[in-house]
Amino acid sequence: MSLPGSPTASRLTVLAGPTAVGKGTLTAWVREHHPEIWISVSATTRRRRPGEQDGVHYHFVSETEFDRMVAEDELLEWAVVHRGARYGTPRQPVVEALAGGRPALLEIDLQGARQVRERMPEALFVFLAPPSWEELVRRLVGRGTETEAERELRLQSARSELAAESEFDVTIVNRQIHDAGEELVELMRSGASPGQ
Ligand code: 5GP
Repeated sequence: MSLPGSPTASRLTVLAGPTAVGKGTLTAWVREHHPEIWISVSATTRRRRPGEQDGVHYHFVSETEFDRMVAEDELLEWAVVHRGARYGTPRQPVVEALAGGRPALLEIDLQGARQVRERMPEALFVFLAPPSWEELVRRLVGRGTETEAERELRLQSARSELAAESEFDVTIVNRQIHDAGEELVELMRSGASPGQ
């Protein structure tokens, strides 16, 4: 498979995909099994969930602190993702990881991926897709906690999110977490080895 961009620059990999496709689970798998890969820790204004650690899963910041980060241009990208919370990628750690020669991974939403594409078009853009539309619907509405109207809204956004696949360099289908994870790491490795 040929990869776009120069080998060195393609060390940065951006992983995005529709809600509920399993991006977070896949990233957690990479964190556990491939410590050689550097994973960006985003800043967010959303509340910390039980089990999440500040500085590990996210940097949990106030609205004022997020405003400051935006004003001082500290974020490579940022977006309002859902329920009004803002999420962004601190730029400096990404630059340092790449300068240190480590393969770097960003797990962000589609709006963020588009911003990174503008600023770092040489990165590798990976779309995580569900095995089928039916499976995505099952994962989206599976919990059964939403109202009919909320469910319809989620399905509508899932449809438009899936349509973004063509904007990406590569698609990984998330059938089995282990297989999807190995595929991602392999892509990152081949893109990160100059002259190989
Ligand atoms: P959660 O709140 O469930 O951890 O994440 C919600 C969504 O925010 C996910 O779709 C995730 O990809 C996205 N997200 C996490 N960090 C960032 C970030 O730094 N930038 C952007 N644009 N999206 C992010």
